[in-house]
Amino acid sequence: MSSIIVTFMSLFTILLCILSVCIYLSLKKKQPIAKNVRLLLIVTVVSIFIQAFLLFTKTVQVALIMYSVYLASICLMRYVILKIAIAVTGHEIKNIKKFRFLYLIIIFDGILLIGNIFTKSLFIIEKVKIGQWYYHAIITQPLYTLHSIIAYGVVILTGFIIIYKIVGLSTVYWGKYLMLLFAFAGAIIINAVYKILNYAIDISIIAYALGAIATYLILLENKQIMLIDKMLSHIISKTDDIIVFLDIDNVCVYLNETAKHFFDIDDDYSSVIEQINKMFCLEGLDDTKVEYSALCSTPIKSQMRHFDILYKKLYRNGKMEGSYYKIKDKTIEIEIFNNDKYKATHDKLTGSYNGDYFCERVNEILADDPYREYYMVCTDVKNFKLINDSFGKAVGDRVLNSIVWKLREKISKDTLYCRLSGDKFCVLIEKEKYDEKVFVELAKEISMEDGIHYPIHMQIGVYKIEDRSISASTMIDRAGMAIAENKEDYKNKIFYYNDRIRETKYWEQRLSGELDRAIEENQLKVYLQAQCNNEGKVIGAEALIRWLHPTEGMIPPYRFIEMFEKNGLISKVDVFVWNQVAKLLRKWKDEGKGEYYVSVNISPADFYFLDIYKEFTDLVTKYEIDPSRLKLEITETVIMKDVESRLMIVEKLRDFGFTVEMDDFGSGYSSLNMLKDISVDVIKLDMGFLYKTKDEEKSRKIIEMIVQLSKALDMLVVCEGVETQSQFEFLKSVQCDYFQGYLFAKPVSIEEFEKTNM
Ligand code: C2E
Ligand code: CA
Ligand code: CA
Repeated sequence: MSSIIVTFMSLFTILLCILSVCIYLSLKKKQPIAKNVRLLLIVTVVSIFIQAFLLFTKTVQVALIMYSVYLASICLMRYVILKIAIAVTGHEIKNIKKFRFLYLIIIFDGILLIGNIFTKSLFIIEKVKIGQWYYHAIITQPLYTLHSIIAYGVVILTGFIIIYKIVGLSTVYWGKYLMLLFAFAGAIIINAVYKILNYAIDISIIAYALGAIATYLILLENKQIMLIDKMLSHIISKTDDIIVFLDIDNVCVYLNETAKHFFDIDDDYSSVIEQINKMFCLEGLDDTKVEYSALCSTPIKSQMRHFDILYKKLYRNGKMEGSYYKIKDKTIEIEIFNNDKYKATHDKLTGSYNGDYFCERVNEILADDPYREYYMVCTDVKNFKLINDSFGKAVGDRVLNSIVWKLREKISKDTLYCRLSGDKFCVLIEKEKYDEKVFVELAKEISMEDGIHYPIHMQIGVYKIEDRSISASTMIDRAGMAIAENKEDYKNKIFYYNDRIRETKYWEQRLSGELDRAIEENQLKVYLQAQCNNEGKVIGAEALIRWLHPTEGMIPPYRFIEMFEKNGLISKVDVFVWNQVAKLLRKWKDEGKGEYYVSVNISPADFYFLDIYKEFTDLVTKYEIDPSRLKLEITETVIMKDVESRLMIVEKLRDFGFTVEMDDFGSGYSSLNMLKDISVDVIKLDMGFLYKTKDEEKSRKIIEMIVQLSKALDMLVVCEGVETQSQFEFLKSVQCDYFQGYLFAKPVSIEEFEKTNM
């Protein structure tokens, strides 16, 4: 008999040692579950001690106490195991309330077991003799069934929790849970076997101890290497990259599915390395290289494909284990990138660079070569919009393309050029390569496509790049300024930016900056130029602005109107003039000179920046003047911009009682055409413009026709720029209504106008 005790004691000692080591190691574990596992290990140690003690127990009374405590400790073990199962499977969070009830039942079971020491309601102990040896047998009482139900219920539930988890998982995750299940089940089965066999010594503690140790190993030591391996190999086999593994002898041992498909290979991997080397030009690569990566483009089935290749040798503890290729097909990304880059840097229509990219390149080129001299050349087709409007966009597009072709023909291949916008092209050219004649030729050769007879007038502006501190776009602006300065020059083709242009620009900027103060300080003056009837009697006037500058003297409008029209400041000037004129009309009304009228100019820009209708009606209301005394001069360009809404404004103004005049009629391009859509009260012809041609007879005919047409459309005709008596006579003879020009009077100050005419 003592040999059994020795065997058990040795077994217990070994288990206690292992458990102690596990408890010690568990102290260092950081996993959240570590605390519960450690508790399980400690409870197991306690249980083993009790069992060991039981082996030496002599009295029934002590055996009862020890057994009760022992079963209570096993009960605690079940409690901890349940907790572990819940935590590991992640049930706790969701169903915490349900399990709290369960914990109470287990605690109740524990109390029953401890209580048994006094109540003996679960079991009693009887000394039973087997041969020479006594052992303490448990004689169960009816209430013991309740304990059994609770105990097995908890065990079944624990198993169920784990199985439930397993069922919902992919097989790769089964490992941990199955191992846990086996560990728990093993302990239970051995316990059941002991119960069934009614063996003298409770061997189930050994099973519990092994189960606890297994739990420790599974949950705290196992790094799930198998799981990770499985997942990695799964990922590798399914990835879109080509993966090829080689052993230390450079023999291919593995191809993933993508690689098999790509190299069209089943099981015989012998040709793979050769294929890789050939396809990606890796032959002759340095063998000693540990790592190698490259981007490689290669034609496959006559389509250019791009690959990102990585070759890497694998080492463990300094010894080579093999190597692998990871080849990524980058074709789509690279094509998208190239496409995007092309789109971002090129002009869609002509395929030349766009302005942004051109400027970027200009800055780079100038920075790279600080001593080489360059010219910035820009081209501009006069009235290109008209080509589009008259012949259609497709024809316009073809003209633009022909400009690019011609340009390419004329400049060397490595000269940078772009389409800046619309009809504007820019070239950055080295001084040595620059030849004025070439560009003049270019300008002359540009023509409409066959069958269309329309002159194309191209102008070229050149900026010799002297100041490199300015941006590329400023250089382009300067070349453009050279063109803008010579807009009216139809004879010459090429113009150079010079200091005068810069000074003009500077002057314009200065004037713009001074405008507010000029208005405040009354430097702006309204001048009046008389308008007469056919008897030469003054009946009204046109208001024309003058700037009496403190240092520059009198600045005539042609020096600032156009610039202010471009930058929008014109509206400030006009609002000022309109106000002055309204005030003057009110003064005349009060002085009994209400029959005189004054025409004011409205710039196209005013329609953008002001509510024209409100401005004028407010003025009339404010000064209580007759709207018919305030005549409004608009130009064709006003209407051309936004026909419908502009016509509506004009209509409203006329309805209100204003007289609307069409200024500079005949200077535009579609004047006659315009008459069809717009109703105005007066047409204003500019003699100067119509008389420009050498053929005076022809001019007279045109004027006569326009007057007749106007009459037919119920419009009065004012003719301005009348300089000679013979012009006056002729205009009278064709029934022109009113006249304005130096023949009668020059624009003069209000005071002078009043003095001479009223
Ligand atoms: P416009 O409206 O066509 O004005 C007529 C211009 O012709 C005036 O030039 C006037 O002095 C000039 N002129 C008058 N009679 C004759 C003549 O017999 N022979 C010649 N050669 N010229 C004559 P001005 O005052 O220099 O104005 C030039 C342009 O500036 C105006 O042309 C008008 O477009 C603009 N402008 C003038 N004042 C204003 C204004 O207050 N607001 C706006 N928006 N533009 C204005
Ligand atoms: Ca005018
Ligand atoms: Ca005019």
